[in-house]
Amino acid sequence: MAHVDSAHLLELALGNAAPGDDDAEALLHVGDCDRCRDELGMLIRLVTAARTATAVDLPIPPPEHIWLRITREVSRERGTPPPRDRPRPDAGPGS
Ligand SMILES: [Zn+2]
Repeated sequence: MAHVDSAHLLELALGNAAPGDDDAEALLHVGDCDRCRDELGMLIRLVTAARTATAVDLPIPPPEHIWLRITREVSRERGTPPPRDRPRPDAGPGS
């Protein structure tokens, strides 16, 4: 099996992955592959950092598209606009 792609690893890190053959295969691969395990570990740390708002502690900024994806997901969970996204029209001042 080829390496698990970053988008799929990110879904796993976010806990969005639906149980199914694709995810079972991906997780099996991650268990056997240092490279994918490292990447998944990094993504889990990013997601955890985003959820706990300690992203400034990250030693290396994550790739922009990865970070946007995480901030959008975390913002959706919190019901707040993503920090680097346009504010929603209904987001009033002081929010
Ligand atoms: Zn791999």
